Amino acid sequence: MSVQNVSTSPIIIGLTGGIASGKTTASNYFLQLNIPVIDSDHIVKELWENNQEMIDKVEAFFHLSVKTYEDRKKLGHMIFHNDQKREALNHMVHPYVFAKIEQLKKEYHNSPYIVIDMPLLIEVGYQELCDYVLVVYVDLETQIKRLVTRDALDRTEAITRIHAQLLLEEKIKHADVILNNNGSLDELYQQIDEFLRGIQNEK
Ligand code: ATP
Repeated sequence: MSVQNVSTSPIIIGLTGGIASGKTTASNYFLQLNIPVIDSDHIVKELWENNQEMIDKVEAFFHLSVKTYEDRKKLGHMIFHNDQKREALNHMVHPYVFAKIEQLKKEYHNSPYIVIDMPLLIEVGYQELCDYVLVVYVDLETQIKRLVTRDALDRTEAITRIHAQLLLEEKIKHADVILNNNGSLDELYQQIDEFLRGIQNEK
């Protein structure tokens, strides 16, 4: 499929879905089509490595070091069962993530489309800033199997991780398009092609 540069303002495509639903797989396909992808997980990882201002704020608030991956795992554990602390952390981190996304969006301003791959897109309300929201959907059993295989988890641990997020059924309520990823990779790619054809025709 060829993607022509026909718009001065890129169309923002939010891509989300549950853990191991296939967001990265879908993102990689967009990249193959030369559509830039902004990966929010990657941004968060870089912020923890490089953004001293954010790190200082978090360390001061939680009274602990977050320098190493092990430190941050401890922080993750601390906030996992504590909604207030999780909220507080999100309030500190999200503005930096959003600022970085805005910066990258400017860098890709010549592209007709920009994909924003964000696992918690719905949870943080980012759908408001997207022209289209795509939710990658897999049924629970497929999701568990793929998570078990990819991350070498046992079934119980896989289920715990799935339930730590908003369930896919909730996310799809906000979808403009649901990408059904229960089938083969080719079937997923075909749905992406179809979506892109659809929005090209809308222009
Ligand atoms: P996370 O939320 O953990 O980052 P993700 O949503 O990005 O996960 P992927 O890593 O893309 O999910 O996919 C999860 C696993 O399922 C990977 O091992 C991937 O190769 C595999 N997978 C994705 N789609 C398919 C498919 N259609 N058929 C078979 N395997 C698939």
